[in-house]
Amino acid sequence: MINRRKFIETSALSTAAIALSKVASGNGSTMAVKGKPIVISTWNVGLNANKAAWDVLGKGGKALDAVEKGVMQTESEQSCCVGLGASPDRDGYVTLDACIMDENFNCGSVAFLERIKHPISVARRVMEKTPHVMLVGSGAQQFAVSEGFPLEEQKLSTDAQKNYENWLRKSEYKPPAINVEKGEHGPFAPSKVNGEWNHDTIGMVAMDSNGNLSGSCTTSGAGFKMRGRVGDSPIIGAGLFVDNEVGACTATGQGEDVIRVAGSHSVVELMRQGLSPEAACKKIIQRIAKIKGAKAKEIQVAFLAINNKGQHGAFALHRGFEYALKSGTDERMIKSKSLFND
Ligand code: ASP
Repeated sequence: MINRRKFIETSALSTAAIALSKVASGNGSTMAVKGKPIVISTWNVGLNANKAAWDVLGKGGKALDAVEKGVMQTESEQSCCVGLGASPDRDGYVTLDACIMDENFNCGSVAFLERIKHPISVARRVMEKTPHVMLVGSGAQQFAVSEGFPLEEQKLSTDAQKNYENWLRKSEYKPPAINVEKGEHGPFAPSKVNGEWNHDTIGMVAMDSNGNLSGSCTTSGAGFKMRGRVGDSPIIGAGLFVDNEVGACTATGQGEDVIRVAGSHSVVELMRQGLSPEAACKKIIQRIAKIKGAKAKEIQVAFLAINNKGQHGAFALHRGFEYALKSGTDERMIKSKSLFND
């Protein structure tokens, strides 16, 4: 018969065994890996953005600095897709959204911001210099100017200008579905719809050599959106979420449908329960598909996540989403799996 002392020793041992097996199975709240920095970001603009982030990570710098520097690169490229030269709203104004989050749940965000080149850096200032998380519109612009950010003239990139003119010609006062195209890369590749660009976001998550996680997300939002529309990208928990004990996630695609399910936060919570980054992203994509029913065929949404082991993965509603990876040993684009293989 087992005596009381023996029983306590045995249960203490099995508790330790359970704790050890949790570590081995990679469950959420285990120790992060150190000394193996890594950065991942959405779409092929991520390749250049990752390089900029690596200038920080490769020298042992902080993930927070890396994710800011990384997406600033994309904001500077003055493409049709992110930053000041991007697609305007239906009234012809470029309005920008961005957010940033560090390893200690500090976060900052700006939305409906006009004429500022680096919304991501304004989001960081909101995080570091105000008691708030989010500033919008003229208030965000006023804060940016008070912080020394120059007020730029709006100048659409050549592509964005052309696409806006095409869109006006049809005078269809409804925004095109985001990231939806019928083309060589699949029906939901980030390209043009009838000559109009419709992909507008970079989301980035990174782990530094101390094993700390951070994330950033910046966008001009849906092209030709209603004036005042804000999507998921600047919303902490929707377009981005970081929990240093578990992992980080960012989103791209139809923002309204990411907000509905608190997308990035939901993915992180599933990783906490032990799911891999890809499996966690897939579960939330399945949830969106269930909610949307037949309408899921008309939209694209994708999630991109990393856990505190540096494992990464993505999942999209439709084929066509890919992400850029950079680590000490690897640099490449990775095609995401999808629910519908159209
Ligand atoms: N998620 C962004 C938004 O809805 C758009 C995108 O990812 O292209 O504003």
